[in-house]
Amino acid sequence: MAINESNLNSRIWLSPPHMSGHEQEFIKEAFKLNWIAPVGPNVNGFEKDIETYLDQESYATVLSSGTAAIHLALTLLNVKQGDEVICQTKTFVASVNPVVYLGATPILVDSEEQTWNMCPVLLEKTIKDRINKGKKPKAIIAINLYGMPYNVKQIHAISNQYNIPVVEDSAEAFGSQVNGQKCGTFGDFSILSFNGNKIITTSGGGALISKSETLKKKALFLATQAKEEGLEYEHKTIGYNYRMTNIIAGVGRGQIKVLDKYVALRQRNYNHYCKQLQNIDAITFLQEPEGFSSNRWLSCMLLDTKQTRDDLIKLLKNNNIESRPSWKPMHLQPLYKDAPAYLNGVSNNLYEKGLCLPSGSSLTEAELNRITKLIISYFD
Ligand SMILES: *Cc1c(COP(=O)(O)O)cnc(C)c1O
Repeated sequence: MAINESNLNSRIWLSPPHMSGHEQEFIKEAFKLNWIAPVGPNVNGFEKDIETYLDQESYATVLSSGTAAIHLALTLLNVKQGDEVICQTKTFVASVNPVVYLGATPILVDSEEQTWNMCPVLLEKTIKDRINKGKKPKAIIAINLYGMPYNVKQIHAISNQYNIPVVEDSAEAFGSQVNGQKCGTFGDFSILSFNGNKIITTSGGGALISKSETLKKKALFLATQAKEEGLEYEHKTIGYNYRMTNIIAGVGRGQIKVLDKYVALRQRNYNHYCKQLQNIDAITFLQEPEGFSSNRWLSCMLLDTKQTRDDLIKLLKNNNIESRPSWKPMHLQPLYKDAPAYLNGVSNNLYEKGLCLPSGSSLTEAELNRITKLIISYFD
């Protein structure tokens, strides 16, 4: 193929969708059987596929979004008006908003440097302080940010000690593991997202992972308007219209076939960046702690200063390459500035100096080289 101007400088996205080619078979089948509804063989099949992949006693309920899954998890944990729910401050806003949907208050907790996720020391301090102030938190929302698992052992030890359940937000971590156990199986409830930018996508969608068939049934009931049994359309509780459709689930069935391949490709991106940029003192990458495996949903690096980070974003943008600052923590958001927050400076530092690089599984070697060459040129 002739190399021309346009593909030399073609747009490189941060994390674009990457179809496997299998999706349309499942969608065609749905059309053929007229399962054009939020019920059907793809819905059940995708749930089975997820359960098989997670390889634990887990029950998947596929939904319209990851946000809906968090909302249902908190509802099933009986979070109500006036309750407090602990959440990692370093995350995307969707982790926290469902707390407010339920009339509860988010209590924000900062990160540790080893995983960029919830600091166990600060978590325990927070729980003690909230109890002293008169309210025991109802739940802990722990995030596997950018695919890096949180400190599972310590966070769950604290959860057990104080008897506060964990909602594991694995929206970014499908395919990540700790000591061979898959992310999405650690929480009392766990959630996955299949939004357009995630490691596998259904265009939009999510899943709630529960630990028993009974809980799965309850989730399904709430996700389908909480209609009581029988023909009468009788309702005793508030429900939602959160079910995934059979068409969308078809996309998921085609995507999950290649999840492990996509994990390997995203890890390849990360390894490329690490290796090519290792001699630049101003750049550091987050290493996996012993036993951890990150799907490297996004490859993120820390720069020495905010100025360097901002310069690099601009340089990449001028060369038609999308990059992004690391998530702005919730305690710095206008929306959550008044929420109680237990801070140690780690998330502020990550926000100021963190840069997410293009991380799609469809990136080519040439594109990866184009990106790293540009970054190297900045420091030369
Ligand atoms: C994407 C994302 C969500 C929300 O998932 P949606 O499917 O987009 O609703 C929640 N938490 C985190 C950390 C995410 O990145």
